[in-house]
Amino acid sequence: MEFELQKKELVERLERVGYIKDTAIKSAMLKVKRELFVPKEYFTEAYTDTPLPIPGNATISAPHMHAISLSSLKLNPGEKVLEVGAGSGILLAYIKEIVGEKGKVFGIEIEKATYEYGKNCLQKASYWKKVKYVLGDGSQGLKQYAPFDKILVSAGCPKLPKPIKDQVKVGGIIAAVIGSPQGRQDFIYFEKISESKFKTKNLGGVIFVPLRGKFGWK
Ligand code: SAH
Repeated sequence: MEFELQKKELVERLERVGYIKDTAIKSAMLKVKRELFVPKEYFTEAYTDTPLPIPGNATISAPHMHAISLSSLKLNPGEKVLEVGAGSGILLAYIKEIVGEKGKVFGIEIEKATYEYGKNCLQKASYWKKVKYVLGDGSQGLKQYAPFDKILVSAGCPKLPKPIKDQVKVGGIIAAVIGSPQGRQDFIYFEKISESKFKTKNLGGVIFVPLRGKFGWK
């Protein structure tokens, strides 16, 4: 009960300050239990607006960052969506709530300890069977399930990897963290307007773990 109240207060605050502008995002964030995606030792901070460490040197992002990520994708029911660097898996759960039964949600994570942690969280929260979460190098996208309507890259890339550009449909959106592990990172919106052209917009500075793998940082 206490968590329910804390969740409601957090979501309403995020709405008041403008991070949540969409009722579907609001309902998803009210529905998914963040306390099931944070490690036990941080249980009491589940609804504090801060990132928290998770196994494998990763973090579950702050709730306001989740709201920004979800907004940037302009999600619609029925869409097919991929998250690269899905960590705790919480965004997969939020996205599933938004795209609904007909939608398809995929996540990929490179770090085994983080993947196993995320798998367990998704199982506890009853989303494991509703999404497809795999272990692997997402800097190469997830070719066997491509193309996607939307792709979110939740780790800092040197530049947008070509396979990810190729695996989104024309008319689709990629939101990705671009920047160096030590220097500046920005959250960038890419709208695929033709096979080879993207319209881009910088959504602002962020702090994420670096993207590893073939198209990541060495
Ligand atoms: N949205 C997640 C964010 C996790 S942090 C959450 O809020 O829980 C970003 C994740 O990207 C880390 O777990 C890291 O291991 C992962 N990552 C880094 N490079 C990757 C790659 N090439 N493929 C897949 N995952 C990667």
